[in-house]
Amino acid sequence: VHAASDDHDVERERAPLSADVTLVGVNDFTTPSRWRTKLVGGLLVFGPGMVAVVFLSAFVAAGHGPVGLIGLCTGCVTASGIYLLLRQPILSDRHIVAIAVSGSIMVGLLELTSKGQPWLPAFPLIYLCVVTLTHLFLQRRMAVAIHVFVLILSTVCTQIISPSLRALFERDLITAAWAATVGWIVSLIRRRLDRSTVLLFEQANRDVLTGLSNRLAFATVMNAALTDDNKALHASVFVIDLDRFKAINDTMGHAFGDAFLRSVATRLQKFTATDDRLTEATIARLGGDEFAVFVPLSLARQELDHVEDAMRHYFHDRFTVDGINVGCEMSIGSASYPLDGVTSAELLHQADVAMYQRKVKRSGRSSKRDETEAKSERRSRLLRDLDRALEDNELELFYQPKVVLADGSIESVEALLRWKHREFGYVPPDEFVPLAEGTGFIIALTTRVLQIAAVQSAAWSNAGLNVAIAVNVSARSLIDRELPTLARSIFELAGADIRALIVEVTETTVMADVHVAKRILEELRTMGVRLSIDDFGTGYSSLAYLRDLAVDELKIDRSFVADLHTEANEVIVRAAIQLAHNLGLAVVAEGVEDTRTLSKLRSFGCDVAQGHLFSVPMRADDATRWIRQARLSNPLASAVETKQPTVTGPPGSDPTESDFSAAVAVLNHG
Ligand code: C2E
Ligand code: CA
Ligand code: CA
Repeated sequence: VHAASDDHDVERERAPLSADVTLVGVNDFTTPSRWRTKLVGGLLVFGPGMVAVVFLSAFVAAGHGPVGLIGLCTGCVTASGIYLLLRQPILSDRHIVAIAVSGSIMVGLLELTSKGQPWLPAFPLIYLCVVTLTHLFLQRRMAVAIHVFVLILSTVCTQIISPSLRALFERDLITAAWAATVGWIVSLIRRRLDRSTVLLFEQANRDVLTGLSNRLAFATVMNAALTDDNKALHASVFVIDLDRFKAINDTMGHAFGDAFLRSVATRLQKFTATDDRLTEATIARLGGDEFAVFVPLSLARQELDHVEDAMRHYFHDRFTVDGINVGCEMSIGSASYPLDGVTSAELLHQADVAMYQRKVKRSGRSSKRDETEAKSERRSRLLRDLDRALEDNELELFYQPKVVLADGSIESVEALLRWKHREFGYVPPDEFVPLAEGTGFIIALTTRVLQIAAVQSAAWSNAGLNVAIAVNVSARSLIDRELPTLARSIFELAGADIRALIVEVTETTVMADVHVAKRILEELRTMGVRLSIDDFGTGYSSLAYLRDLAVDELKIDRSFVADLHTEANEVIVRAAIQLAHNLGLAVVAEGVEDTRTLSKLRSFGCDVAQGHLFSVPMRADDATRWIRQARLSNPLASAVETKQPTVTGPPGSDPTESDFSAAVAVLNHG
């Protein structure tokens, strides 16, 4: 179990195996274990064996066997067996065989002392086989029954052969006592072994924190339900992700976070008991703050929705954890067989995607059925087309300049991803990046973005334009430890300088694995890549990043910048700028749409601005022209001259091609 989990550090961190589980193996002697195990084990194997040798010699020399001493030795073996059980509860099969072999040798000697019946040693051999085989390979109850039967049979047999009272006391009863003792020890050991095997199995299948199933067990249950050839298949799955768990964890501490997760697990269990449809539910914690419920029923869409609503309602009441009141917001997604998928992976994936969609929207579910359906249709189309987008180069990077407020120079641009879909036209990243995040596709996507950015960076550098490119990397995708090496080789291959790369860490949802993410970011930074905290003020852990990571830049979220004229936002923006400057970071304001905002930002001491006031994101060639132009005429001056934002669709709207050209035209000539 340990060896297997080494390859999956992430999993192990989520569900650590308890430290007191010892590995059970048949090769305890060859694997390094504690010296006491070895010593006692050795005594068990060699002690009685040596005694047996001594007795054999005594028998050969004197012609008779000191029965009393044999009884004493039997007692010794029993005692060491019990000691071993108390001190080291888990024994290897070798130990068991050793006990049986050594005891049987002694009983064999005992039988040999009955003169005139040389075939009697066959009985101990029978004991040996019966005791070890039954207890090792049969169910305990069966083994004990067979054991008792053989015991009585052999005692009766030896009595029939030599029916003397002396023989009964000196030979048969001691033999029977020995066989019973060995049987008892072996059976006890076997039971312990079974229990530890169960324990190990449970450890590998349970989530230690909440006691729910873990991801592995969950997948096993789902697979079992979906692969039964003889039965009609039924399956529905719900994926539940807590919305603000990261914040709770960060502010209240991990112990509190753990207790909170346990409360959520308990309530989830209680919830499944309230609904008849969920009586056979399997509940799991998939990791972090993600839970899942599986039911072996194919629920219709309305029923899924109904369960989701009921669940949300059930979680409406706040939790009291350690005397503190906490609310629990969650995003739920569901899928059922066969409409949403036919394999467990597909179903989980569909439910996951639905859940992420809701999380991104944050606003909860749309009430209008049609709208949801249309969206889900579009979403599944996009999902299906994602890898084609990568293969067919349908992904494009647009560039938006970041203007240095001190002198109007352009030191960097932000690369923003666009997908030119055959049917839907330009699809904004907000729509497909979360899909990619939910599917693990994000790594391929980030790789592609880096490739395009690297090629562009080399092109600009060759053209004598010194601009860094800021690439958005979602925190959720920072799970690939190869990312820094990959980035380096991509830039090398393109002939670009990796120091021209800026990574903007965006956080739309809780980070998958903080430690791995941190390591990746640190490695990138040592390579000369600059780090920027995107959407400052809205992310789940922007402040935690500032505390834990060495970053270079802080980007104030455009929701604060867009509405800078409200007092609250002004206070926040000022404070953010001050905080950043105190930490030695540069501050970028994004979403600057008008000159009034610009002048306010300047007066607050903001370093860099970006937004429609200067330019919407542009195609590479347009961006090149724009930057060239900016070197000739200060974009700050141009912006002030044009006074009003030149091109602004409604917030979040998709700039069309004509928008871009218009913007460039106006700015170039304005
Ligand atoms: P973001 O990093 O906050 O990017 C800024 C967004 O604000 C862009 O939207 C940009 O077009 C828009 N914007 C810029 N100036 C203004 C303005 O003055 N007013 C308004 N209303 N909006 C402005 P876009 O391109 O739709 O990107 C949305 C988000 O998608 C980005 O937010 C980023 O989080 C994500 N994203 C974009 N490209 C990538 C990528 O390559 N990888 C990843 N993982 N995420 C990306
Ligand atoms: Ca960004
Ligand atoms: Ca942003």
